[in-house]
Amino acid sequence: MTSTPAVRPGFSRTALSIDVEDWFHTANVASVIGRQGWDACELRVERNTMRMLEILDENDARGTFFVLGWVAEKCPQLVRAIAAAGHEVASHGYGHELVYSLEPSAFRADVLRSKQHLEDLTGKRVRGYRAPSFSITDWAIPILQELCFDYDSSLVPTVAHDRYGRLSGIDAGKPVALLRDGFYEVCISCIPIGTHGIPWGGGCYFRLIPYSMWIQGVRAILRSGMPYVFYFHPWEIDAHQPRLPGLKASYAFRQRVNLHRSEGRFAALVGAFKWDPICDLIDAWSAAHDTSQLRGTTSELPSGAASASLIANGFR
Ligand SMILES: [Zn+2]
Repeated sequence: MTSTPAVRPGFSRTALSIDVEDWFHTANVASVIGRQGWDACELRVERNTMRMLEILDENDARGTFFVLGWVAEKCPQLVRAIAAAGHEVASHGYGHELVYSLEPSAFRADVLRSKQHLEDLTGKRVRGYRAPSFSITDWAIPILQELCFDYDSSLVPTVAHDRYGRLSGIDAGKPVALLRDGFYEVCISCIPIGTHGIPWGGGCYFRLIPYSMWIQGVRAILRSGMPYVFYFHPWEIDAHQPRLPGLKASYAFRQRVNLHRSEGRFAALVGAFKWDPICDLIDAWSAAHDTSQLRGTTSELPSGAASASLIANGFR
């Protein structure tokens, strides 16, 4: 909790996000269950997501649901239920492939397929994208903007994970950044240590770290004037998901650690703060900051990867 950067005060907002995918979609189990095996797996995502919706409803909380296109096709009624409950429906892509492993044209097709299907189901424009396994990379950003997204929320500004992606110029001290004119990056929360951070945004880390310590970390982030962005998955409250013989021990650990405790922890966290969707965080941030100066700057900059590093403008 040291080296907290100087940030603008008064932006201690909490945004909640759920990546709507099933237990067999994770990168952890990809070596055992490939894409061709998905149709044969037991579908558990609908029940688990509905339980999360109940928890949010009980606590008057709203969030952003990044829905995998594959899930949206299997469970259209689930997407409609999420939207009807007042949450933001956003895209987690279609086939849950690591972004930096794809050709740009394949990435574009994957995201577009997901976005169009979600918009058909909800009748609303999808504003946000989250990359599978946070595998965002610079060349993807202009493609997302071309596809009429307003923001990406895929960056975990840490060095502590083997699969996470990178965006030039964004670090743990810049939790929200205007990457291009009209397009934002909303980072997954970390506790900043210099330019890097300790992952404090959710997932396996939330299941692993003692709850009381986790809450202290969240409060430290909020006290510093930064927003807090949390993520979780429906399969992470499902202790009865199938076990996979032959799965590498480190992957099995990431997939299963403390699953039996996580629904209770998730409910406690939801009840401990006031939660909004990420689109509300961006709209409030945009209204609170003078982005006209940034727009003037962006017009002088090249598009794409280079602009991300130059325009990145967090709370410093
Ligand atoms: Zn995912």
